[in-house]
Order: sequence, then C-alpha cells, then structure tokens
Amino acid sequence: MVDGVICGTWYWSRNLAGPVLEPGNDKVCFVAWRAVLNRLPTFQALSRRSIPVNSTECPVCGREEESADHILFLCEEAQAVWCLISQWCKVPPIYAFSVQDLVELHRYMSVPKDKAKAFHAICLITMWCIWKKRNDRVHNGAPVHVQGLYEEIKSLSYLWIKHRSKKRVTWED
Ligand SMILES: [Zn+2]
Repeated sequence: MVDGVICGTWYWSRNLAGPVLEPGNDKVCFVAWRAVLNRLPTFQALSRRSIPVNSTECPVCGREEESADHILFLCEEAQAVWCLISQWCKVPPIYAFSVQDLVELHRYMSVPKDKAKAFHAICLITMWCIWKKRNDRVHNGAPVHVQGLYEEIKSLSYLWIKHRSKKRVTWED
C-alpha cells in the first residue's frame, strides 16, 4: 500500500515493520535510501562487512566512528549544515538521532503539505550533498566547507523542486 509519493519514482510504503523507502532511479534519493537500509558504504559499514579499511574514523571530523547517522547528521560539520538549512527553511532546529528520523521529519511539521514536501526534498538533497562532499574528501582530500556546501544545497534544491513541482515554489512565502 503506497503511503505517499515523495519524489520521482520513490515512495514510502507501510508494512508491519514500519515505513520502507522503495527504490527508483533518482540519484538524489539514493543516498537516503541506502542510509535508511544501512547500506551506505561508510567506513564502519565496510569494516563490519570485513572489507579492509585503514580506519573507521569519520573522514571529516576524525573524532567518531563513521556510521551513516554520524556522517549525514551527527558529525559537527553536518550539524552546522543542518542548522543553516533549518534557518533557511524557517523551521525549528532539526533534532534527529538517525537518518530514519531525518527522512520522516516532514510528516510532523505543522506547515502546508506543499512546504512539507519541499522540505522533505531539501532533506534528501542535503544528505546527498553531504555524502558527495564526504567522498570528495576521502578520494581527493578536498576540504569540507560548511558555507560552500550550504550554498550548493540551496541552488540544487531550487532547481530540483522547480523541476518537479507543477506549482511555482517560493520558499520565502
Ligand atoms: Zn565526523
């Protein structure tokens, strides 16, 4: 039973085990989907699958083990990005303990449905951008700049939502 379309060919469906994000081919949703299913190849996940890694430390902060929840939300740099996102979207500070919480946030917002849907898309885009930056850091040693990441998320969000929304989206309203 389809509970609600979230984006492109992806949707949440409900079963006894709780909501399940079903796959399509939209790259923006892919990171969140893999993270929810614990299939994001973080250092912790690789090490648990007995794939040799130099260290399971977070490649961004180096202070905690790199799990999906850590790199996408709990890491200090990720926290700074989410803080800017909540200010931009004019929503209360985002509290979450896991990626699962992040993808469900829009359900509990007291805002019009369109805005909640747009916010949900922004959450997915944020996770995708954070993961891309993390990969750039791991493979190319590129630094992670919170402000640059935030600007990238904003411009991608405008493009993505505009492309998928029949109505004109003006977040500032
Ligand atoms: Zn970290």
